[in-house]
Amino acid sequence: MVQFIALLAACLPIVTLCYIGFCLASPWGSCVRCRPGGRNRTCRACNGTGKRPRLGWQIYVYLRRLYRDGSH
Ligand SMILES: [Zn+2]
Repeated sequence: MVQFIALLAACLPIVTLCYIGFCLASPWGSCVRCRPGGRNRTCRACNGTGKRPRLGWQIYVYLRRLYRDGSH
């Protein structure tokens, strides 16, 4: 069990980096709520665009905004 946790802890930064790279490569994911039918104009989750920013991308934008506000 301890070895498993150690392995997980070792893999976590790599997985995180891969996820960040993945988010930077394609920051827009398809909307979960209207996925089967594609676009749905009445969908409130994506405002009818059928695309939503990934969680990692939202975090990146948030952190970038924080850094920009802090540097001034
Ligand atoms: Zn949608």
